[in-house]
Amino acid sequence: MLTDLVQIKRFGEKQRDDNQKFRAWLKRHNFVERRLKAMAQDVEAKIDCTACANCCRVATTPVTERDAENLARFLRVKLAVFLRDYTVETEDEGRVLKRDKNGCIFLEGNLCSVYEARPNTCELFPHLVKGNGSLLSRMWHMPDRAVYCPIVYNTLEEWKVETGFKK
Ligand code: SF4
Ligand code: SF4
Repeated sequence: MLTDLVQIKRFGEKQRDDNQKFRAWLKRHNFVERRLKAMAQDVEAKIDCTACANCCRVATTPVTERDAENLARFLRVKLAVFLRDYTVETEDEGRVLKRDKNGCIFLEGNLCSVYEARPNTCELFPHLVKGNGSLLSRMWHMPDRAVYCPIVYNTLEEWKVETGFKK
């Protein structure tokens, strides 16, 4: 299992084309979604996210209205204050959590300081086992995520073998 983040970046970039082709290939072939999710779950169980936290460092975090309400309540501030102090509106992704040089504004060391009230997308990340929509619809993001997330990189490598993926 590859967990070194420098290697994940290097190999994830190397596999990016293949991972994009794999996504398209999956669309045209039958596969057992339950089996693939179980494999992703196994990979998740073997990787310690508190030793990584790379997604909190490199990815932006969209915030829904419900996320904002939960977080404002958790931080004991008014919703308007939360939105002003902790989020920013972007053109591409709508409202997202603010970031500083270390990544997400709520990241402390490798830990999430608002873990109990973290946004839904953080709870579901990296969206292999759980997520909105079908697994195929979520595959769209995976070639990018395989460059920084050890769970995604290793899972895609295992899935390619399992499904007999041919370029
Ligand atoms: S809210 Fe917590 S889990 Fe979500 S990106 Fe920020 S630090 Fe990470
Ligand atoms: S979800 Fe991926 S990138 Fe995020 S902490 Fe876990 S292994 Fe690291």
